[in-house]
Amino acid sequence: MHYPEPISKLIDSFMKLPGIGPKTASRLAFFVLTMQEDTVLNFAKALVDAKRNLSYCSVCGNITDVDPCHICQGVQRDRSTICVVQDPKDVIAMEKMKDYHGLYHVLHGAISPMDGIGPEDINVPSLLKRLQSEEVEELILATNPTIEGEATAMYISRLIKPSGIRTTRIAHGLPVGGDLEYADEVTLSKALEGRREL
Ligand SMILES: [Zn+2]
Repeated sequence: MHYPEPISKLIDSFMKLPGIGPKTASRLAFFVLTMQEDTVLNFAKALVDAKRNLSYCSVCGNITDVDPCHICQGVQRDRSTICVVQDPKDVIAMEKMKDYHGLYHVLHGAISPMDGIGPEDINVPSLLKRLQSEEVEELILATNPTIEGEATAMYISRLIKPSGIRTTRIAHGLPVGGDLEYADEVTLSKALEGRREL
């Protein structure tokens, strides 16, 4: 099928998004043609603004428009606890639950020797540095219940053990192989409540 260039460019752009194949991409592209012009302009502006105005917090690695992020700066936050997660989306899931008032550390991935991802390739070094300078008493390892997530939790727990900081792992009840971000609030809250010592 040969499309006019602006349409094929739009289809190519949609295909750069995760989970969007050629069929969905062309459906979306043709839908855009039916949208009001100002709706399309606002959509394009939202894309550019999100990219330009958001970056990663220099302390915790979370997505933010100010540095340090609102959570790291929060005066109400319990600074003795850090919850370690894989992805900024996990912070959003935890915050939605409203049961957790500590700080976060976002790893941006998990250790996976099969894929050649070691501790230095994710935000582990920045976590260690942080633990040296901050008054942290407990590290809650809330990496995903996958092989990589478990391996990452074990690795960090072994690394931290000599420092005397308490390390805990969130309880299962979270679906094995699932992502934290897809857990409902009750499940996540129970998982946090039932965390165990490592
Ligand atoms: Zn932060």
